[in-house]
Amino acid sequence: MPNLNLILLGPPGSGKGTQGERLQEDLELPYYATGDILRAAVKAVSDVGAKAKDFMDRGDLVPDEVMIGIIADRLESNEAEHGFILDGFPRTVPQAEALDKKLRELGRGLTAVILIDSTDEAIINRLSGRRVCLDGGHVYHVDFDPPKTEGACDIDGSELIVRDDDKPEVVSHRLEQYHEKTAPLIDFYRKQGLLNRIEGTETPDRVGESVRTLISTLSLEEGS
Ligand code: AMP
Repeated sequence: MPNLNLILLGPPGSGKGTQGERLQEDLELPYYATGDILRAAVKAVSDVGAKAKDFMDRGDLVPDEVMIGIIADRLESNEAEHGFILDGFPRTVPQAEALDKKLRELGRGLTAVILIDSTDEAIINRLSGRRVCLDGGHVYHVDFDPPKTEGACDIDGSELIVRDDDKPEVVSHRLEQYHEKTAPLIDFYRKQGLLNRIEGTETPDRVGESVRTLISTLSLEEGS
């Protein structure tokens, strides 16, 4: 399998996390979901967690320099030398520019950006039914992807909760932030010829199939 350096882009709740977890298993690549990294940092009461918490609770973006530092550390480690999957980073143009610069320094580049797209209406629907497990952050939806036992994670058995930032008033602010600060990345990567759009309003399995088909094409191109 050739090296794949991938970004999952898309609005909050478009299914990036669900697809990212599946891709990580299929491709056996390190998977860096910045939201998960930040939530773990908040839980551990680390310096990064202390800096990020208030921004996250309000549904605001955490400052670029904090985020760029988190990702730069991981890309510089040997762990990501055969490829990576980024989920939730970059989320602003300065983050994307910093990522390009870091990859150039490392003599690498991006393989593709996968935009898992959705409408605001579908997102509000998704996020209101989303549940995450307390211990591992595994993601479910009460209607579209329910756990086998109500209220408990299939994988580690821990309790399923509503994330604070999935509450309706915070969701609308996160969507505003997405349209204002993250959506410009669609054009940014389209101009670089890296953008691949996938319809995210389908079921998780259908979206997963589209992602897999895309990855096979990319692997063939990279390998040729
Ligand atoms: P997520 O789980 O990806 O929806 O991220 C949850 C929250 O973490 C976001 O609402 C932001 O407050 C913060 N966050 C995650 N990734 C980034 C990023 N790349 N830049 C700024 N803030 C981020």
